[in-house]
Amino acid sequence: MDRLLELQEIDSAIDRLEARKRLLEEGGDLAAARAAMEEAEGRLGELRLALDALTREQQRLEHEIDSMSRKAEAEERRLYDGSIANAKELEALQHEIANLKERRSRSEDELLEQLVRRDELEARAADAQAEVDGARARVEEVGGDAVRELEQIERELAERRAARAALVPELDEELLALYEELRPLKHGVAAAAIVDGVCQACREKLSAMELDRLRKTDGVKRCEYCRRIVVFA
Ligand SMILES: [Zn+2]
Repeated sequence: MDRLLELQEIDSAIDRLEARKRLLEEGGDLAAARAAMEEAEGRLGELRLALDALTREQQRLEHEIDSMSRKAEAEERRLYDGSIANAKELEALQHEIANLKERRSRSEDELLEQLVRRDELEARAADAQAEVDGARARVEEVGGDAVRELEQIERELAERRAARAALVPELDEELLALYEELRPLKHGVAAAAIVDGVCQACREKLSAMELDRLRKTDGVKRCEYCRRIVVFA
């Protein structure tokens, strides 16, 4: 293969490897995996806070029910131990006991509702925990993959750079200077082959007259459309 095209191939490979390396170092995939993990952790954290609040509310209700039960029992003992003889006082006490029992019943209903809500929250927390575990595993996987791929890229870059360094002295200096000048202006591609009269960089078909003229040129040949250096394949 023509040496200039060989150089172009090496340079294109180096460009691709460096672009991939930059992407990996910026951590695009890893950052996305981390963001997903943080989101899952946030959801789990909120559910745990809600469960904690529910536990406190449950304890408060249990305590309340317990204290109302004891109070009702004590009042009932007073009702039957004969210590109160006054009918009005007895009636007031009966009323008080009924009132306590009604309040206790309301608290018990409330407690039941909290228990149902707890079941639901616990199920959601278990789902969220599974999501967090999955997201964490993904972060480790992507992180490990990125490290391994970066190492592979470094090895390939070193190989390509060595090949480039060996090739460059074999090229004409002026041609090389033009090539280097064109590369940044032409999206990294300064040299292309002409295959069946078509420039492989811009895909334009050169005219028969132009092809004939190029064949007869001793110096640098350039595509009449994209102005890249061209080589007959
Ligand atoms: Zn062209």
